[in-house]
Amino acid sequence: MAEVLVYVDHVDGAVRKPTLELLTLARRIGEPVAVALGKGAEDTAAALAEHGAVKVLTADAPEFADYLVVPKVDALQAAYDAVSPVAVLVPSSVEAKEIAARLAVRIGSGIITDAVDLEAGDEGPVATQAVFAASYTTKSRVSKGTPVITVKPNSAPVEAAPAAGAVEALTVSFGETATGTKVVARTPRESTGRPELTEAAIVVSGGRGVNGADNFHVIESLADSLGAAVGASRAAVDAGWYPHSNQVGQTGKSVSPQLYIASGISGAIQHRAGMQTSKTIVAINKDAEAPIFDLVDYGVVGDLFEVVPQLTAEVQARKG
Ligand SMILES: Cc1cc2nc3c(=O)[nH]c(=O)nc-3n(C[C@H](O)[C@H](O)[C@H](O)COP(=O)(O)OP(=O)(O)OC[C@H]3O[C@@H](n4cnc5c(N)ncnc54)[C@H](O)[C@@H]3O)c2cc1C
Repeated sequence: MAEVLVYVDHVDGAVRKPTLELLTLARRIGEPVAVALGKGAEDTAAALAEHGAVKVLTADAPEFADYLVVPKVDALQAAYDAVSPVAVLVPSSVEAKEIAARLAVRIGSGIITDAVDLEAGDEGPVATQAVFAASYTTKSRVSKGTPVITVKPNSAPVEAAPAAGAVEALTVSFGETATGTKVVARTPRESTGRPELTEAAIVVSGGRGVNGADNFHVIESLADSLGAAVGASRAAVDAGWYPHSNQVGQTGKSVSPQLYIASGISGAIQHRAGMQTSKTIVAINKDAEAPIFDLVDYGVVGDLFEVVPQLTAEVQARKG
């Protein structure tokens, strides 16, 4: 059966959920062969095998951590040369998209970014994308070379599909450009204990209606009751109420969770651009005419300071 290369996003051997989702999609096209690089690469094997990887190609070298993406591109290309896959799937993170783009240029292939679904086709995999602020859904196929496709988090379920997951060391020789850009400092982000915004299954966001940084605890409490990430509109971010790293929208992050709860957000096109592909959308807004109500599955017309705490209490009560 044809092999599909899957680039693994992991932290010291802990495989991140979007990679497990990629394995689900890869199995629709062929046999997943995973490529795990850097510290803890071999530790990824058990999780990858559990979710369908027939092989796990691993490589570790100081270059992966000490320099920006090129060493990883060299390694992914080495895996590509070794396997001759029918497609290369990469998670749609900022770093991985750069790796995917550089690989596509090197191997002379077409690339599709930010796919939200993938299916097998007679002439190669067909990717679904949500475009123009998610107002349209398109289906595309790479017509030149081996398709390189990046897939957004939450685009597919994580499914157990035990496979061999045989670990093989990947031989990588770094090119001249691999050490062109050195990492000179690292500052760990303060952990909130909440899931990463772009990967979270549930996102609870607040906007100008939250009316102050101190009030954001109302949004955070609901998020914590649901195990969700916290998002914010640009109005809330520009007012200094919440960090820019949590901004959802055209000039913020793009999220596609199972559930998106917008509180005190009007639903401007630039906000919608970052959340419209969410599977279920709920809005709480005191203005019944707010445009956000045009796209919701469930809407509550009311004051968020009355509605959100009640919702939090109800969720807590049901959790027992
Ligand atoms: C180039 C460009 C890029 C942009 N990028 C982004 C982006 O990435 N993300 C983004 O979000 N925006 C972005 N914007 C800004 C966008 O156009 C809107 O201005 C912004 O989204 C509005 O944020 P908001 O909905 O929180 O505020 P508002 O539009 O002011 O809406 C606040 C809402 O809260 C409701 N409300 C008020 N009080 C309460 C209450 N107590 N209870 C319930 N509801 C209440 C109001 O009825 C209102 O609907 C961008 C704009 C431009 C021009």
